[in-house]
Amino acid sequence: MRENIASLPPLHFRGCGECCACCEGKFILAPLIVEDFKQVYRYFDIRAVVLDEEVIPVMILTDGNSCKYLQDSKCTIYPNRPPACKIYPFSPYYDEIFIDVSCQAVGVDGKKLPASKEEILQSEFFDERLIDFARKRQQTILRMKNVELTFERELHGIKIYTFDYQNMLGVEDED
Ligand code: SF4
Ligand code: SF4
Repeated sequence: MRENIASLPPLHFRGCGECCACCEGKFILAPLIVEDFKQVYRYFDIRAVVLDEEVIPVMILTDGNSCKYLQDSKCTIYPNRPPACKIYPFSPYYDEIFIDVSCQAVGVDGKKLPASKEEILQSEFFDERLIDFARKRQQTILRMKNVELTFERELHGIKIYTFDYQNMLGVEDED
């Protein structure tokens, strides 16, 4: 359950410890901004979903099973893990920052968590994508308006579309 950090009292984080819920199927999709594509496309499928008439690029994190990069409770691509993994339990939405208050490590014990976007940018949760995030997301939505979508499949009731993101970005696939 995500809540806006602006509406919450200061929270603390105990660390993930043995919990791997985020990597074990808690999430199926994670929304992307265009700037994420180069970082993500070698590891995860980039697709699109349509939500409230907006076309949103997403990465398919899991199909409901464990992430394919989880081995012995460790992430095997840790330095290259996608942005959503780096900043969790935080997630940005335009100018707001939300936090997953259902995360078992979030509460009153442990290290004090940053309580604002400015504090997050100075913390271990820092990620380049958070700088000017609202503008980047808006630009992404505008660019996605004109992409040609091809229906691929339904994943847990969500319609998943392919689109030519490599051509869109000029990303050369060296594989
Ligand atoms: S962020 Fe929270 S829910 Fe996700 S693995 Fe860590 S402790 Fe578990
Ligand atoms: S990429 Fe790594 S951190 Fe992210 S879900 Fe997969 S195993 Fe977990």
